[in-house]
Amino acid sequence: MNKADSERIAAILEKKGCKPAKTAREADLVLINMCSVRQSAVDRVYGKINNLKKLKEKKPKLKTILTGCILKKDKKKFAMFFNEIWDNKNYFKEKPKCQNKSIAFVPISNGCNNACTYCVVPYTRGALNCRDHQEILKEVKSFIKKGFKEIWLLGQNVNDYHSPKNKSIDFTKLLKLVNDIPGNFRILFTSPHPKNFSDGLIDILAKCEKFGNYLNLPMQSGNNQILKRMKRNYTAREYKKLIEKIRRKMPEIKLSTDIIVGFPKETKKQFQDTAKLFKEIKFSWAYISKYSSRPGTAAFKLEDDIPLSEKKKRETILREILKKHGK
Ligand code: SF4
Repeated sequence: MNKADSERIAAILEKKGCKPAKTAREADLVLINMCSVRQSAVDRVYGKINNLKKLKEKKPKLKTILTGCILKKDKKKFAMFFNEIWDNKNYFKEKPKCQNKSIAFVPISNGCNNACTYCVVPYTRGALNCRDHQEILKEVKSFIKKGFKEIWLLGQNVNDYHSPKNKSIDFTKLLKLVNDIPGNFRILFTSPHPKNFSDGLIDILAKCEKFGNYLNLPMQSGNNQILKRMKRNYTAREYKKLIEKIRRKMPEIKLSTDIIVGFPKETKKQFQDTAKLFKEIKFSWAYISKYSSRPGTAAFKLEDDIPLSEKKKRETILREILKKHGK
């Protein structure tokens, strides 16, 4: 999603007369589009400030802008350095300056109405805001006309999509409409939520001949108590059943997932449930992250009590399973 935003922010800057510089040293303006999902991403911005400070000493007129997902507490600190802070917003109306000639990112929504206890998105991006389906279709058509071969539909939880102009158009119907656009291209999307991944959506995916046969379905944990504390609203069994249903309809599909290791109070036994389910499902790929306490979230009130060394150990176990058992 940040990549899609960056392409649209680049278009805004171009309209203002900016041209891309080869390096930050050559630039008169540096804009950072940041992410707050993990503390490491925030720390990287603090690291960049040190470099930019040195640049500003040599080039006092250098302008710096910060935008993206920024937590309130960080905003105050960043405001002391950056010339401008731009609020995160929908860039739906902006035509992107695509970085890739064959892959196009098409945002279908921004923000999220869910409340996963570890996640900052509802606080940094706000409530769910869906894009008009006609606008989406128009943009997809223009990409196809330009020869793009891969269309990524993007949203924090794509299954929650409903067109603001026509409530009967949900994500399933939107997929069908995109699939019906003539042309030689593949459709992919991210991210869906397992809690409302309906049978109807599985049926449509199986029927859409342009679907790219790849799905990232975040599992986060394989233990019911942890899933409950994360407020994910599904059980490990329900997740497994969903994967089985998807594979029954689409046996060739490649599946990836997101896992968080070391959620507060995650015992070794609870982690073993995750490792077991992870092994059984045989994902093709996985985004494994060590839990990072995010200010403002419900989980922030819980003690981040799993030592980093233990989180790293759990991450390594999952990576080894993936290497050995991944499809
Ligand atoms: S559904 Fe995704 S974006 Fe929304 S709160 Fe949960 S993890 Fe965050």
